[in-house]
Amino acid sequence: MSHLAEQKKLLVSLGLEAHCGLLEDFAAFCAREIAPSAARIDAEREFPGESLKKLAAKGFTATSFAKESGGRGLPYPVALACTEHVAKSCASTALASGIHGAVARGVERFGSPAQKKRFLTGLVSGKKLACFSLSEPEAGSDAGGIQCSALPGKGGYTLSGKKTYATNSGQAEVYLIFARAPEGITAFLTEKVKGMTFGHRFETLGVRGSSTREILFENAKLPEDAMLGKPGEGFDIAKSILNHGRLSIAAQALGIGQAAFEKTLLHVSRRKQFGRPLAEFQESQMKLAEMQSSLAAARALTYHAGALKGRGDEAASEAAQAKLVASEAALRVCDLALQLHGGRGYTEEGEVHRHWRDARLMTIGEGTSEILRLVIAKFALKEAQHDQG
Ligand SMILES: Cc1cc2nc3c(=O)[nH]c(=O)nc-3n(C[C@H](O)[C@H](O)[C@H](O)COP(=O)(O)OP(=O)(O)OC[C@H]3O[C@@H](n4cnc5c(N)ncnc54)[C@H](O)[C@@H]3O)c2cc1C
Repeated sequence: MSHLAEQKKLLVSLGLEAHCGLLEDFAAFCAREIAPSAARIDAEREFPGESLKKLAAKGFTATSFAKESGGRGLPYPVALACTEHVAKSCASTALASGIHGAVARGVERFGSPAQKKRFLTGLVSGKKLACFSLSEPEAGSDAGGIQCSALPGKGGYTLSGKKTYATNSGQAEVYLIFARAPEGITAFLTEKVKGMTFGHRFETLGVRGSSTREILFENAKLPEDAMLGKPGEGFDIAKSILNHGRLSIAAQALGIGQAAFEKTLLHVSRRKQFGRPLAEFQESQMKLAEMQSSLAAARALTYHAGALKGRGDEAASEAAQAKLVASEAALRVCDLALQLHGGRGYTEEGEVHRHWRDARLMTIGEGTSEILRLVIAKFALKEAQHDQG
């Protein structure tokens, strides 16, 4: 079954058949408008600004946001299905767009009326790009240990410290920064301010168009109304945003894996060894079957988690499960794709090595597979204790 056909079947099973036409149109748009520049973006480490603009103009950034936030009000699984096509076409574009969307969710849920008025329309329409900055050099998986300080003073807070690995940093107009205030971790929503500078841009293995940089704060003054939520609520806000982000990463991983799978189907049908196409060897067929079924299983889990989220469920465990399963499936699929491409998979001739490099991030960003397993187990144990009374 083709990618699109499989996605449509899943949407139908969720009662979302009305949106299949939109998905078909969007898939064709991505193949036509986003995919052609992906290899160049990767090779030149070019920020995918043009692709992001095209997605915004197509209405993608607004897909599943509420109409009162300026969105299109489409169901969450439809947005995830669309995200797959963005990632299948260009993973750097999908990553930039995914983190942007997660921040916009945070503003929609936790923003004050003034913050929504100032930021939300621009974020939902995609006219302004957002950055999420939680990680620090000494606090990655243990994000609760961040040290960047937010000291209260006259009329606001003074931020000092170093953030790292912030996707879209330097390119974004809107920054969601997590810092430690006396009450605990606190979130701040701001445009670029004096005292805030951008450091090293990391030369990443994959998603090479992404702008992954340090953000440095040196006595940067933020007004009181830059705070998102209340003092000390930052970690809960970060977790809520990460739940959205994890679902987006799950869909991105699926798109990357699907791209590698489809290229492999073509390759094994064309490439002959020992006088026969590779596709005729049973060993190739075993690999193809594993690729197809692991993507299908991960897709079902991801759309299911999206459907729960769309109904207002926090779905923290389901989002973690979807991200864990989809990212590990994508990595395995890309690895098998590379193997089936032989030397071509390892060289610049084919594009499978790009998909492999892009997939490699998916088990690390927005919670490593190890941390997600801890999260999932914590929820399972809590449920069991609850059931036992
Ligand atoms: C390209 C890229 C983009 C990113 N974008 C963003 C972004 O936009 N915003 C942002 O805030 N961050 C971002 N990050 C940071 C990312 O979220 C972290 O890299 C990730 O959370 C892991 O943290 P770490 O790199 O410090 O690794 P560490 O926390 O040092 O972990 C190293 C290893 O130890 C394991 N480990 C750690 N603790 C445990 C434990 N308790 N039990 C078992 N194993 C454990 C981890 O699973 C991992 O395998 C990005 C990172 C990259 C590479």
